[in-house]
Amino acid sequence: MAILSFENLRNKSSTENKPIYVIAQEEEAELSETDIDVVRLKVLEDLTAMRAAIKNGLKSTEKAISGWSGDDCAKLKKRYRNSEALFGKVFEKITAFALATAEENLRMGRIVACPTAGSCGIVPAVIVAVAEERNIPESKLIDALLTAGEIGLVVSNKVRLAGAVAGCQAECGVASAMAAGALVEMLGGNTDEILQSSALAMKNILGLTCDPVCGLVEVPCIKRNAFLAVHAVTAAELALCGVESKIPIDEVVDVLKRTGELMSPLLKETSLGGLAKTKTAQELEKVLFKKD
Ligand code: SF4
Repeated sequence: MAILSFENLRNKSSTENKPIYVIAQEEEAELSETDIDVVRLKVLEDLTAMRAAIKNGLKSTEKAISGWSGDDCAKLKKRYRNSEALFGKVFEKITAFALATAEENLRMGRIVACPTAGSCGIVPAVIVAVAEERNIPESKLIDALLTAGEIGLVVSNKVRLAGAVAGCQAECGVASAMAAGALVEMLGGNTDEILQSSALAMKNILGLTCDPVCGLVEVPCIKRNAFLAVHAVTAAELALCGVESKIPIDEVVDVLKRTGELMSPLLKETSLGGLAKTKTAQELEKVLFKKD
């Protein structure tokens, strides 16, 4: 039976004494009428595709057709070669991997939408970077991805994960909540800590607008992936030491939905407001579309 709320998920986890990833893989196996091994193999394929996107993105400096983006990851890598990031190696990898993946997306490379293409860098950056730096085995990464997927699925039961519906809070914001939960799973946290981390991450991106310049998933999307990947780590660290969201996660999701409804259509992927209507954005638009 589909799990429609985080309260359901928490209760099922507690009464059946199962971590979230076990519930997720059982649910998926039932839905797809297949075995759990097949489900885990499919998740491994996604993980492999995520790693390939990171690898390709780290190598390439090819610009997007717009000419605006495509070399930010290279700039970051150059800086880290000369000077270690203030927050150390994990931070270096998370920010570089998030940009690498998001830049692959703008080059029309192969990425895994998790939950969407615009927010594709956040979950992979966090889990791959931390796994590399902490030597976390492959099977734990599959558990983490299943956990992230379940979090995204439960949120999507209430609100469509699309900037056009609820702004970027429903894309990069939810990706950050998924990454936070995945990270807590990887670091040995329990169900409560996973859900707390997601609530904390989501609570702090409420109201995030979707205002892509010229309607392209580039500005502000690419850099936003790096910011919200780091945001996920903060949420995970807080949850793992027992910090709790005073507002329960289901209520946070309700607020995300309601905030999306209250948000002006100008700020929901129409490119009619926000950053997309700044003087500079309008000049970029003229050049890009050769308007007079
Ligand atoms: S700003 Fe809009 S298009 Fe860009 S990632 Fe966020 S939701 Fe997607």
